[in-house]
Amino acid sequence: MGLGWDSHTFVPGRPLWLGGVRVKHPAGLAGHSDGDVLLHALCDALLGAAALGDIGVYFPSGGRRWKDARSAQFVRHALGLVRAAGWRPSNVDAVLILNEPRLGPIRERLRRRLATLLGIPVAAISIKAKTAEGLGTPDTAIAQVVVLLAADERGQRRTLKRQT
Ligand code: MG
Repeated sequence: MGLGWDSHTFVPGRPLWLGGVRVKHPAGLAGHSDGDVLLHALCDALLGAAALGDIGVYFPSGGRRWKDARSAQFVRHALGLVRAAGWRPSNVDAVLILNEPRLGPIRERLRRRLATLLGIPVAAISIKAKTAEGLGTPDTAIAQVVVLLAADERGQRRTLKRQT
């Protein structure tokens, strides 16, 4: 089981990327990469579940290499590490905490995108939203993600072989 958390600030005029989907909105999320708060939390959940560190270990911000990078490639990399360690994602539960945009109209697109990225059924992806009521952070998007990994028997055998 892995837990990920991230927050980014809205900046007017920047493209908004959420869950690997380009969402039409007047403001996007600031960040060294594309600022995709949901995919960053997903990466940390994947890596955390396999005790493989966190996103900053593999994609340090500040380096030119990841400037404006698509966060989907971070997820693919994290997934590759998780698989190599003998695991596969089973299901995902996410909470987005933001006032806008409303999740309703985009929820299914986000679920499909995450399912494709992780290679699991859409039915295994849950995305919920809360407004930031009382938090005093109207310009911030927060994401929390929990990922459950299942043992991939072939992968586990490969890992064991390497260790013995
Ligand atoms: Mg981030």
